[in-house]
Amino acid sequence: MANVSTIHPNLFDCHVHTHFSTDSDADVKEICTAAESLGLRGLIFTDHNDFDWPFEESSDEYQLPLETYENTLSSIVKSYNGPLDIRIGVEQGLQRSCCDRINSYDSKNRLDFIIGSSHLVEGKDPYYPSFWEGKDVTKSINLYLDTILDNLDCCHNFDVYGHIDYITRYIPDSETRAKTNLKDCQDVIDAILKKIITLGKGIELNTAGFKSGDEPNPRRWILSRYRELGGEIITLGSDAHTPDRIGDHFELARQILIDCGFKNITVFKKRKPEFISIL
Ligand SMILES: [Zn+2]
Ligand SMILES: [Zn+2]
Repeated sequence: MANVSTIHPNLFDCHVHTHFSTDSDADVKEICTAAESLGLRGLIFTDHNDFDWPFEESSDEYQLPLETYENTLSSIVKSYNGPLDIRIGVEQGLQRSCCDRINSYDSKNRLDFIIGSSHLVEGKDPYYPSFWEGKDVTKSINLYLDTILDNLDCCHNFDVYGHIDYITRYIPDSETRAKTNLKDCQDVIDAILKKIITLGKGIELNTAGFKSGDEPNPRRWILSRYRELGGEIITLGSDAHTPDRIGDHFELARQILIDCGFKNITVFKKRKPEFISIL
């Protein structure tokens, strides 16, 4: 964790999980304490909701009780009197098979922010080693990126696309993982970025990639390409599932964004983008 004196005062962690996510036990107040001691300006809670989660891979249920979630977090936020600007969002798993439920999600407009993420390829999550059994790595990556493009055609109820090269975090062979740079996939990545920009949506810089390598998700050249194509909406998120990862590698991430040509990060409030200087 960076120390207080080195972190830029405008940074928001816009991708944070709590015990409302099936894969996290994190306590909301402990998350806030961690964000305060790091000197973040604010954070957005974004717990998982994945419709049609495949039970053969995990016995876990990834559907968020939205009303309870929003009510509980809202009352914590209301009684909070510390320095953080705290907002409430969801990380929505995007899939064509449930696009109607995704597109009508949060019809009462209670959320500040929705990250749309691809966690599944043909109904399976590359996070699990069983996904990769008997599979060709290149074909799986191509299929994952095609799935993103397909999701962009049918799922529109989100603000930024999460961790665009998520699948590469979990390539089982470490040498192959280190060598993978997705340069061979530039055409489909360009198509994804152009579609996101045309839809008026954005992407995120997700620092969880630094847990297993030296690139964020998506990697630097994709962030740079997004900016080059005219992309402006970019959020910054740790994807923390524990308090110790809040704001992880954020100073490095800020420098990467500046190097890629960004002057601002984006933070959403009631689904509207606000731009905040990182210079
Ligand atoms: Zn995710
Ligand atoms: Zn996440």
